[in-house]
Amino acid sequence: MSFTLAIHGGAGTILKSSMTADKEKAYTQALAEALRIGEQILSSNGTSLDAVEAAVISLENCPLFNAGKGSVFNATGGHEMDASIMEGQHLMAGAVSLVEGLKNPIQLARMVMEKSEHVFLAGKGALDFAQRMNATFEKPEYFHDEFRYNQWQRIKDSDHFQLDHSEEKDRKFGTVGAVALDVHGNIAAATSTGGMTNKRFGRVGDSPMIGAGTYANNTTCAVSCTGSGEFFIRGVVAYDVSCLMEYKGLSLQAACDEVIHQRLLKINGDGGLIAVDTKGNIALPFNTEGMYRASVRSGEKAEVLIYK
Ligand code: ASP
Repeated sequence: MSFTLAIHGGAGTILKSSMTADKEKAYTQALAEALRIGEQILSSNGTSLDAVEAAVISLENCPLFNAGKGSVFNATGGHEMDASIMEGQHLMAGAVSLVEGLKNPIQLARMVMEKSEHVFLAGKGALDFAQRMNATFEKPEYFHDEFRYNQWQRIKDSDHFQLDHSEEKDRKFGTVGAVALDVHGNIAAATSTGGMTNKRFGRVGDSPMIGAGTYANNTTCAVSCTGSGEFFIRGVVAYDVSCLMEYKGLSLQAACDEVIHQRLLKINGDGGLIAVDTKGNIALPFNTEGMYRASVRSGEKAEVLIYK
């Protein structure tokens, strides 16, 4: 049995012309490292669930991405993070939203899945649960990133909210995610984000919503999304990919293309997703200029890509 792993670090107006060699190298290295961590688990017969969680933790700990340490500032100058995880064998899922101060929101999402009777905990209740679970918290300084702070300063007095790395009309998203197929034939998906710069406090995006930003089902596929969350919620994007495979018999690639290049565009939604199926196929579609992404299959060379 073989394994497959794909990860993303967000999509958007990522142009080679506005990227420095150093920056590109830093992104490439961070993606390669997260992929390596997940791959190691899968190649030693570990589960897809462990692999997606570990890959996402690695990206959450990297300030380059809008999740965990690199989370964007909301309208009140705080960081409210969202995350979710799902496995495709029993359709178990866990999600958290509006969590502050937590080092690795994806770990808490997994704890909700495995150690509570619930699927989704938000805000104070999620933080209370995190404390009971002895989850790791960090001081506000840990989340303070100068680049993100300046990003927020430029738009904080407006009603405008924008996607991570966005500059004026540019749109970039730094949400992170992973999808995997393990040697036992099971798939899983995980997504984690700081949301959108200057978002209203209390705003919940697609990333923690099972079916919108994250979905996994062994009969179809595992999906993790990135993009303007409001559109991904309205399009129920992750589940829509699964539905097109299940009800219409589309291949993974055809289902992903239909959702990202047709249905999402029809409602003006921008972004992308990563997906795997139980046959080991990978699809990495996006309707923006770029998407930080990487993938590997057992026995094959890993691939790290940024631009179209
Ligand atoms: N989808 C995320 C959100 O709307 C943003 C992103 O992908 O960067 O919260």
